[in-house]
Amino acid sequence: MKAVAIFPAEKAVRVIDHPEPALARDSEVRLKILDVGVCGTDREVAAFEYGAPPKDSPYLVIGHESLGEVIETGSAVSRFHAGDLVVTMVRRPCGLPECPACAVGRPDFCVTGKFTERGINGRHGFMAERIVDDQRYMIAVPPNLRGVAVLVEPLTIAEKAMIEVGEVQDRLPWLRSGEDRGKIATGNKAVVLGAGPVGLLGAMALLRRGFQTWVYSLEPDGSPKALWVQSVGGKYLAAKDVPIDRLAETVGNIDLIYEATGAAQVAFKAMEALGVNGVFILTGVPGHKGRVEIEADLIMRNLVLKNQLIYGTVNAGQDAFDAAVADLSEFHLRWPQALAALITGRYAPEACPELLLGPPSGIKRVISFAGHDVDTK
Ligand SMILES: [Zn+2]
Ligand SMILES: [Zn+2]
Repeated sequence: MKAVAIFPAEKAVRVIDHPEPALARDSEVRLKILDVGVCGTDREVAAFEYGAPPKDSPYLVIGHESLGEVIETGSAVSRFHAGDLVVTMVRRPCGLPECPACAVGRPDFCVTGKFTERGINGRHGFMAERIVDDQRYMIAVPPNLRGVAVLVEPLTIAEKAMIEVGEVQDRLPWLRSGEDRGKIATGNKAVVLGAGPVGLLGAMALLRRGFQTWVYSLEPDGSPKALWVQSVGGKYLAAKDVPIDRLAETVGNIDLIYEATGAAQVAFKAMEALGVNGVFILTGVPGHKGRVEIEADLIMRNLVLKNQLIYGTVNAGQDAFDAAVADLSEFHLRWPQALAALITGRYAPEACPELLLGPPSGIKRVISFAGHDVDTK
């Protein structure tokens, strides 16, 4: 069957003929892959900066942002049936006895770093016509999300961050409550740094939770991304119009900053703008681009005197995947056009080397294995 693979030894990316996967256990499910999103991680893997093939393979089938349709189930599978839509989780446990996180099914918090990841690290990914995995790593998706469910995996970044915000802000007694917990921040102010897919999905997740949300990015005011932000009820700040050191005076007391640029310079400068009891969430992974000067005294003073918290988050557990499906359903109801507009192109697998190695463009570009709705570009 057809798959897209990277070959580290020869530094090549191409469509290959990959062996058809078969059920090896009765708890496994075979999927026909419909969509696979392409992201910055894939581009890094394709540039051979990150990731590795399985030990016994000269190549890695890439792809971790997937949507598939169930075509076969093992005898012990009760949760899924043929025709169901499914998103498959990415990270797999290290299995080492010293890792309490993996032992409870949370390899996103793996302490040994010996986890594997489908399509990234040590396991073939989802950019193939068919895949097999254990049902425990699969999340059901309602059929009406067929067109957008490939966004579930990238949305889990924000969902894990939001789950942690809920837990972190339980420290504030007036926000701590059972029923209202999903709305912990109604009326509060959030700034998203960066208008890529992670930033824009994060903005939707924040808006849905009642945050007044600003998106701060490089694109000028009036650009398609600025208009997109406004269409979902957010406010857009163009970096050209508002230097980052005027962020606080422009927005007011910033309760939450969601960083989705991967640029340390921007992140640490924005940290100065974080408000009282504020939370700063880092999701981007910067390359090694040399030293960045920061206002360490000011940042440290603020951290202490304003009860601030900074945390990073990577990957996601089942709870974040479940939340992503629920949120995506809500986004689909509230902002159907804006949600669909995040997918800026569907391409045949043969276009993948160009998507991975060529200049980035659009918002979320998707490789479609379904065939019928593919752009010809
Ligand atoms: Zn990704
Ligand atoms: Zn582990």
